[in-house]
Amino acid sequence: MLNNTLVVRDTNCPPSCKLCVEACGQRSGECSEPVIEKIDLPEVNYHSVLTCNQCSRAECLDVCPTGALSRTEAGPVVLDAGRCVGCSICNLVCPYGGIYPRQSEHKSQKCDQCGGDAACAKACPHNILTFEKAAGVADKLGEDLLSPGLPYCAGCGMELLDRQTLQVLGKDIVLFGAPSCNVLSSKAKVPYYGTLMTQVPSSATGVARYFKHIGKETICVGIIGDGATADLGFGALSGAAERGERILYICYDNEAYMNTGIQRSSTTPFGSWTNTTQVGARGRGRQGMPKNVPLLMAYHNIEYVATATLAYPEDYVRKLLKAKEAVKRGMAYIHVLTPCPTGWKFATEKVVEVTKAAVETNYFPLWEAENGVIRFTHEVKKPAPIRDFTRLMKRFAHLTNEELDQIQEHVDRSYAQLKRVTTCT
Ligand code: SF4
Ligand code: SF4
Repeated sequence: MLNNTLVVRDTNCPPSCKLCVEACGQRSGECSEPVIEKIDLPEVNYHSVLTCNQCSRAECLDVCPTGALSRTEAGPVVLDAGRCVGCSICNLVCPYGGIYPRQSEHKSQKCDQCGGDAACAKACPHNILTFEKAAGVADKLGEDLLSPGLPYCAGCGMELLDRQTLQVLGKDIVLFGAPSCNVLSSKAKVPYYGTLMTQVPSSATGVARYFKHIGKETICVGIIGDGATADLGFGALSGAAERGERILYICYDNEAYMNTGIQRSSTTPFGSWTNTTQVGARGRGRQGMPKNVPLLMAYHNIEYVATATLAYPEDYVRKLLKAKEAVKRGMAYIHVLTPCPTGWKFATEKVVEVTKAAVETNYFPLWEAENGVIRFTHEVKKPAPIRDFTRLMKRFAHLTNEELDQIQEHVDRSYAQLKRVTTCT
């Protein structure tokens, strides 16, 4: 498992800077050709660096016919030059361009993170390359129970959400879902039960009660979108919560009915374009403010409620583990903001940036509720203005300053309401 890993923060490297590449070329070791590359694309204002991601499912490892590539105890994938015959198959299969041919010799080469003391990270004065602890998440992930290559839209965060969820919850679960972007029937190595959109909570309830009756600890887990959660199935969800059914319900909230063509749901934010809240002569996007479903669930006083996002995986994994325990006593609910590049209209590589901006502007605060106490799990000391979130996507592109101010006011008011609840308990 990874102890530390090299993190490339964003795409704002200064265009002329190559300090990391130079430091990599000066490192000691068998080969001193750089294994990190500077990418400058001024036409699209993209400046970043490229190096090995140390993938948890490294394709290079799988294809090497001589066993020259292996993973060390600390995590990085390393290359034994003595065994490498320079066939370059690894160069071809790596989806990230993270492994290179050597210029000086007929062999490959790749980043080994300098044995845990990465020269590039030390040389980077811009805090873009950092070397950080990853053990908080990696140590808690078990077997990958999802098939590779899932048919989501490019850039969708759902795959990561599903994969992490199953890696944490393990095999002793039954999944429940309904027609949505996220039908896992043939993709997960655990049983999947597909229901109508209104019936995930009641179907999971029935099976959970049967498991209790026969003394099995198998957990019934619903993973379902905001349409089925906040609108169509809310009555069944509220009923299951009120009865304290022992089910884990995860709502992935992409703030509209994305699977059927981007129709607004009751979590669609004010002003947002959708196909049923058009912008033009007859409309200005969604009118009215969204329903705060996680807070409503917290007011049901169930065992555990939390909000989470993909951009803070340690926070999500910790909450999943708590939910896994809580569901032995009663209902657990996690509300995960899952930005949709297709429906929100942002570039596919921006999903984590968009998710982070949602948290850092207080648009989507991270909190949890247990034993009647609500507390923040990531309190933002200096929240960024809401425009730092809305400018990242085109669904808000038509809004005037006055309309953006209305969203800011709603965010501030909702946050103040949450703050009052957290400090009152
Ligand atoms: S070389 Fe490519 S496939 Fe191998 S671990 Fe690095 S990024 Fe992943
Ligand atoms: S180039 Fe070397 S490391 Fe890569 S697949 Fe061939 S033998 Fe293995």
